[in-house]
Amino acid sequence: MQGRKVIITGVPGVGKTTVVNEALKKLKSEGVVYQSINFGTFMFDVAKSDNVVQDRDQMRNLDRAVQKHLQQRAAQEIAKVTGNVLIDTHASVKTPKGYLAGLPEWVLREIMPDVIVLVETDDDQILMRRLNDETRARDKEGSRAIGEHQQFNRSIAAAYAMITGCTVKIVINADFLLERAADDMANVLR
Ligand code: AMP
Ligand code: MG
Repeated sequence: MQGRKVIITGVPGVGKTTVVNEALKKLKSEGVVYQSINFGTFMFDVAKSDNVVQDRDQMRNLDRAVQKHLQQRAAQEIAKVTGNVLIDTHASVKTPKGYLAGLPEWVLREIMPDVIVLVETDDDQILMRRLNDETRARDKEGSRAIGEHQQFNRSIAAAYAMITGCTVKIVINADFLLERAADDMANVLR
């Protein structure tokens, strides 16, 4: 069977990586294997070697053209990976000039995902998670702005489904219910 390509998205701080890691642990015992790829890390590796940033959280403030260049190079590298692939990324990136599509047409045509997952939860829960995360330079914004970003991500995910024919799955990662989110995610992946 050909490999499956699953794209995982969600606003910063929603807990994408945590849910994915829990789901992958469950699947490993069943012999379902995915290679897990972080889109931002691929971009950051290029950005570092081009000497344009020192920190991954600086990338969304770079010039739009530079971000698109990094995005394209990351997509080309990721497209080469075979087998079951899970790609941790963003449906849209909040930049000083507005929302930047995380998966514009030229990225989608490289990757051609089977499924796009939107990891979501209540806006105020995301706000609290960001405030408690000192490992990252998260954007300082209120829960209303976080809500707007989540809404925008749903809209743009519909456009991605139109281009690729992929399905769109919403996984809720609510406080104290990580186990449920991981189960929902595992069901998408198996
Ligand atoms: P993350 O570690 O997932 O928060 O990603 C770090 C950074 O990588 C983000 O803040 C963006 O600047 C960039 N990034 C990740 N995925 C994409 C994408 N699909 N398109 C554009 N930029 C991206
Ligand atoms: Mg992450």
